[in-house]
Amino acid sequence: MNCIFCEILNGNIPCNKVFENDNFIAILDAFPANEGHTLIIPKKHFENIFEIDGEILKEGYFIAQKIANSIKKSFGIENINILQNNGALAGQTVNHFHIHIVPRKENDNVIIKSTPVSIDNEKIKNIIDSIKSNM
Ligand code: AMP
Ligand code: ZN
Repeated sequence: MNCIFCEILNGNIPCNKVFENDNFIAILDAFPANEGHTLIIPKKHFENIFEIDGEILKEGYFIAQKIANSIKKSFGIENINILQNNGALAGQTVNHFHIHIVPRKENDNVIIKSTPVSIDNEKIKNIIDSIKSNM
C-alpha cells in the first residue's frame, strides 16, 4: 500500500514527532497552515471516519485535547481549529485517518468558510427522518 503516513510510521520517511503512545503518533504538518499545526495519526491504517475503530477514534480526540492544551500553553494561543477530512471532496489528500490541530492567530492565512444553503421544511423533515433511521 502506498501510504505516506504508514511510511512515516514505519520509519521510512522522517517526521517531526511531538507525541507517541501505543496507538498514535502526533507530528508537525510538513506544510503547516500556522506554527504548531499538528496531525494526530493512528498507528493502524484506517482510511477515514467510516472505517476507524470507535475506541481508537475516542483516544484520538482525547489526544487532540491534550495537544490543544499543550499548544495553548506553548504559544499562548486561545483559538484552535480541530479538523478532520474524509474523502477527496472534503479535502482529504492522505487516505490514512488523521486529525488536524490548527492554532489560530489574528489575521492569519487560514480560511475555513461557507455560505449557508437554503433548505425547505419538507426537506429538513426528510433529512431528520433519514439520519435517525440510518443510525
Ligand atoms: P488532509 O488534506 O486532511 O488529508 O491532510 C493531509 C495533511 O498531511 C496535509 O496538511 C499535508 O500538509 C500533510 N502532509 C503531507 N505529507 C506530509 C509529511 N510527509 N509529513 C507531515 N505532513 C504531511
Ligand atoms: Zn496508512
